[in-house]
Amino acid sequence: MLYCKNCRLVFSDISCCPICGDNSAQPPQPDDICFLTETDPLPAGMLKASLEQNDIPYLSSSSIGAGLAIRAGAMFERIKFYVRYDDLTKAKDLADGMFGSDGSDEAEVYS
Ligand SMILES: [Zn+2]
Repeated sequence: MLYCKNCRLVFSDISCCPICGDNSAQPPQPDDICFLTETDPLPAGMLKASLEQNDIPYLSSSSIGAGLAIRAGAMFERIKFYVRYDDLTKAKDLADGMFGSDGSDEAEVYS
């Protein structure tokens, strides 16, 4: 596994970052902040609740500024999630469990 500090992305099987092409990526450290997923505001709220239930600290950021969100409407907003590398595997399991089911059944979050 390698970690790109520019994109906060963990990747494997390739020697350079798939987003920025940086080939100086290093193996991830436990405290590195890693990109988890990007999603719409509604599932983002569900994912936040799930991460909190599992005591996984996370960062989230909107892909567009607050001013634009007001003008364009929340439906165009995308929320990005980041977690520590230590928590990445567990957090990915949570996200996959939620979004793998198409996000249509809220009960999935709590199963
Ligand atoms: Zn990169």
